[in-house]
Amino acid sequence: MHNYKIHPWKIIQNGWDPDKVMESESIFSIGNGSMGQRANFEEDFSGKTHQGSYVAGVYYPDKTKVGWWKNGYPKYFAKVINAPSWIGISVLIDEIPIDLNKVYKVEMLERILDMKNGLYERSISFKTKDNLKVEINSKRFISLKRKSIGAISYNIKCNRDVNITASPYIDYDISNEDSNWDEKFWETKEKINTQNRSLVKSSVKKTDFNVITFMKADLYDNNVKLENPFIAKSNSKKILLESKYSLKKGHTLKVVKFGGYVNSICNDWNKIENKTNEVLKLLENMSFESLYLEHKHEWSKIWGKSDVKIKGDIKSQQAIRFNIFQLNQTYRGDNPNLNFGPKGFTGEKYGGSTYWDTEAYCVPFCLGTKPQEVTLNLLNYRYNQLDKAIDNAKILGFKNGAALFPMVTMNGEECHNEWEITFEEIHRNNAIAYAIFNYTRYTGDSKYLNNKGLEVLVGICRFWAQRVSYSNKKKKYVILGVTGPNEYENNVNNNWYTNYSTKWCLEFAVDTISIMKKDNPESFEKLFKKLNLKESELDYWLKISKNIYLNENKDLGVFVQQDGFFDKELSEVEKLDYSDRPLNQNWSWDRILRSPYIKQADVLQGIYFFEDKFDIKSIRSNYEFYEKFTVHESSLSPCIHSIVACKLGKTESAYYLFKRASRLDLDDYNKEINEGLHITSMAGSWLAIVEGFAGMRIKNNSLHFTPSLPKKWEELMFKITFRQNIYTIKINKGLFQCSLNINKNFYIYVNSKKLKFDRNGKASVSI
Ligand code: BGC
Repeated sequence: MHNYKIHPWKIIQNGWDPDKVMESESIFSIGNGSMGQRANFEEDFSGKTHQGSYVAGVYYPDKTKVGWWKNGYPKYFAKVINAPSWIGISVLIDEIPIDLNKVYKVEMLERILDMKNGLYERSISFKTKDNLKVEINSKRFISLKRKSIGAISYNIKCNRDVNITASPYIDYDISNEDSNWDEKFWETKEKINTQNRSLVKSSVKKTDFNVITFMKADLYDNNVKLENPFIAKSNSKKILLESKYSLKKGHTLKVVKFGGYVNSICNDWNKIENKTNEVLKLLENMSFESLYLEHKHEWSKIWGKSDVKIKGDIKSQQAIRFNIFQLNQTYRGDNPNLNFGPKGFTGEKYGGSTYWDTEAYCVPFCLGTKPQEVTLNLLNYRYNQLDKAIDNAKILGFKNGAALFPMVTMNGEECHNEWEITFEEIHRNNAIAYAIFNYTRYTGDSKYLNNKGLEVLVGICRFWAQRVSYSNKKKKYVILGVTGPNEYENNVNNNWYTNYSTKWCLEFAVDTISIMKKDNPESFEKLFKKLNLKESELDYWLKISKNIYLNENKDLGVFVQQDGFFDKELSEVEKLDYSDRPLNQNWSWDRILRSPYIKQADVLQGIYFFEDKFDIKSIRSNYEFYEKFTVHESSLSPCIHSIVACKLGKTESAYYLFKRASRLDLDDYNKEINEGLHITSMAGSWLAIVEGFAGMRIKNNSLHFTPSLPKKWEELMFKITFRQNIYTIKINKGLFQCSLNINKNFYIYVNSKKLKFDRNGKASVSI
């Protein structure tokens, strides 16, 4: 395990371990929602590394590779593409290239990620065989203010006079490690490299996304800018700006490099090039410092609305800020064509950008910390892809406007390549329905629901109406051959979560339509016409929802995860050998499937979503039973268990699970951090605090809280955006305090007690 220093605002790593470079590259990743990159070194490095720079929304449809083709398989898997890299600076000192893998002795290496200001800094010092000591300090950020610009300040100092060749470059010979057919995804169209204009035009094969990668560099000796220091050069992989300079002992040679990507939805080269020229022009009048100042200011606005403060537990403090920081680096919410990818800009794994993670985990985070338009963009993303979801269902044999939203997508088309997920993990449809419900409940805005939302819901309900079968034996509707959230069981029957959420979804759609019929008959008529809906369809949906099979083990008082669950040998996780964990890296898939071990919240995911429908006794018995078999090998799991544990007053268990959720990457619980970070589950850590320890719920248009802090926490403070107001919540051992930024006549409820705000917008109560 890496030991990152514990600091409330920073991730700090000291020491050099060449075998851990890939882990650090993930942890120190930076991005701005439009682009992002792993924390690869600027200078050459011949050791183990995973190079990664990514442009949001730009993907390659990599032809499906499976052993045995099955009808209905998606034709491709959308890969987030490793883009041409603009960060490189190759450095030769007295003709010898700097390469940390080869230098004689690395004396010091420190990495710092300053989350408050969005700055990544790296300092190194090393000695070569002939006792030359070199110190390098590099600072890097990707501007939150200017979507296409990133900046590096790279400083070199030596203990004797040296000749340095420093060459900032763009590397366009880039490939993906996860390419199915060892294909390169980019085609280089043109390279332009002059002293003040360096750019590479590249197109993605097949999808034809056009992207310009640009750079601009300046050179300074002890902060004095050098005139025309570079000669523009190129080879078959790079364009570079080469400078040769005699650096005096103790002087600092600084390379300031700006770079990034310009792309445009319309893909028109002229437009993209004009925009690039504008960016380069702007950069003539900006310095590293001035760009950084405005970037910092953007971060302060984000923290102003979403910071969580924990007193008494710096480890948790650092973790939750890391989670919030990474979420904001991944998705900014201003573009309905983009979404939260499970790995964001930190790695290739998981390809396509959108999973059910967005609706189940990220939507509530956005609702609580962003203006409602951000969530609306996420909902519109799915609405805009409804036609493709209908096509997707058609490919599988469904008709009449039935919609199956993809498990993984970039553009609405399904591209997940494993049959047991693609065809069977269909509960994803209900998370999309739930997000529509959640948005409406949270914001009080029913416009989306009554228009686009209902169209989505009708498509989903039509899917379920055809996907269920009627079991004559059970005299119930059943859903056969599914994979629930627990991906450690495939092709099971009557996954309780899938069945229950389907029941809920059908009822929610029918209720919404009935209310519309009563309150707004005109819109109701319009909808019926547009979708060619029939009353008989609604009756059938209700019939299914009333008669869906929900298997219960009455002796244990638990819902049965799937029909075969109780035939398994129910040996608890506790009895597993430590060396077997994580199971997915140590056991055969066959062994995992037969085992009772649960990858992630499954029945409990349902309890979490629909908690009001169950009594506390049932919540308790389900939690106590399923927690014993859950290995939490999906990052999405511990946060949900933590929230349910809080509901049951098991605050210390909840705290343990929260730490696992929030420090998953920092402490590498799942031993896979080298592949990238778990971005979507970071929203779950936030939920574990807000819905778990603060116990926040929305009921009848008001905020309700049932706080219970872990013993270690002296105070918890966070902000919530709710119906145009920002609520600042402060909870300590004996007191709950809340203040409003706009003084309005609102109420909140704490432990069911109604609290009114005073004239200054403040309310408090002993707890
Ligand atoms: C989980 C899925 C999730 C995916 C992406 C998988 O490991 O089992 O529920 O959607 O990761 O985060």
